[in-house]
Amino acid sequence: KQRNPHESEFHQAVKEIFLSLTTVFAKYPQYIEHNILERIVEPERMITFRVPWVDDKGKVQVNRGFRVQFNSAIGPYKGGLRFHPTVNASIIKFLGFEQILKNSLTGQAIGGGKGGSDFDPKGKSDLEVMRFTQSFMTELYRHIGPDIDVPAGDIGVGAREIGYLFGQYKRIRGSYEAGILTGKGIGYGGSLARTEATGYGVVYFVQEMLQSKGLSFEGSTVTVSGSGNVSIYAIEKAVELGAKVVACSDSNGYIYDEKGIDLATLKQLKEVERKRLSEYTDIHPHAMYFEGSKGIWTVPCDIALPCATQNELDEYDAEILISNRVKAIGEGANMPSTLEAIDLFHNNEVLFAPAKAANAGGVAVSSLEMAQNSSRISWTFEEVDAKLQTIMKNIYENSLKASEEFGEPGNLVIGSNIAGFIKVADNMIAQGVI
Ligand code: NDP
Repeated sequence: KQRNPHESEFHQAVKEIFLSLTTVFAKYPQYIEHNILERIVEPERMITFRVPWVDDKGKVQVNRGFRVQFNSAIGPYKGGLRFHPTVNASIIKFLGFEQILKNSLTGQAIGGGKGGSDFDPKGKSDLEVMRFTQSFMTELYRHIGPDIDVPAGDIGVGAREIGYLFGQYKRIRGSYEAGILTGKGIGYGGSLARTEATGYGVVYFVQEMLQSKGLSFEGSTVTVSGSGNVSIYAIEKAVELGAKVVACSDSNGYIYDEKGIDLATLKQLKEVERKRLSEYTDIHPHAMYFEGSKGIWTVPCDIALPCATQNELDEYDAEILISNRVKAIGEGANMPSTLEAIDLFHNNEVLFAPAKAANAGGVAVSSLEMAQNSSRISWTFEEVDAKLQTIMKNIYENSLKASEEFGEPGNLVIGSNIAGFIKVADNMIAQGVI
């Protein structure tokens, strides 16, 4: 805390992970001898840069860009870019730190990184977004590469932004290097099923967890916070598995549709027209819109999937969910539940799927995109989806196994942290003091 003052989100992420590791150090003292803890919390590199751009009125605007290259023990840095006004060093570091262990859990050879900017794409024209994004890449290009660092999307960075970023990189470098970014359009090196991967992956993971207790999505009532990339495809897969998703949200409020959210309307509003969620009720007047996104946790459900943003579900929300007899929580967003909320879920026997494990499907398929780019071939949707399902099942089983081996059977927070950490720590030791 002394070295990184004012970085509360980063401290929160580090605390959650370190609390999980105490039994690991008792069993494997070499991690203490090699001072892995102090080394792993220090990024290998953190880049901060100026992003000047010109708005539609001809005025010069300035934003701040970040890229943290946190850990390359098991592969090139990999992690998304977030464009959101709340982005700062603490947010980028918490996301980058979590990414190290998440990427390790996927079983793919990818290290941990993250980046972004405090730029707010909301309310900006396409041309403004393009000018900003091109300026962002004009600095970022010198730090990335297929074997160095491979960014992807995150909040505020979707297909449009990745396209502009890719175009600018190509223009500066004068070469077509498909493997410098993932989440690309299908026509220029993207992977089928990448758009769906994080949301589908969350549901695959939660389904494994439910099945271990004889439960399932079939016939369940589900709420999903957010209405962006992760949320939309979590809803799609949950419905495919027989659930009814009755509520979703954006940063202004939430909708409740007792008949089940109409996915075609949601996709049209959010993916095509970039409109607010409140407009859903213009098309479906029987549905209800409520101001205030946190109200979504008051909607009774069997399964809640927080898929919007960090710390969106606190102990107060957890208490309401528990009193409404929620059976399972699956984190689609990064660190959506506070530490206090997680404790409440564990103490009340609510099944809990932590983000690090449950939302790793996106980066796993990004890694499959890199593999397709390197070999210059494309797999079918079904092939990628099948690999994603296998990866999510493996992450679940490895996390469960680690939780049992280290004396906390079924605690997937501890299990996933340990399973992810050991692989990274062993490879840091193998590569010497670097
Ligand atoms: P998007 O930008 O596509 O969507 C984010 C959604 O969350 C929007 O609907 C946004 O609403 C909403 N939102 C933001 N803040 C709040 C809030 N306080 N309460 C309710 N809703 C809110 O981002 P993604 O779907 O890509 O990312 C969502 C989360 O998933 C993030 O935590 C991200 O780090 C994580 N994640 C994403 C991956 C991916 O592959 N995309 C991979 C792994 C994790 P509004 O439009 O009003 O801003």
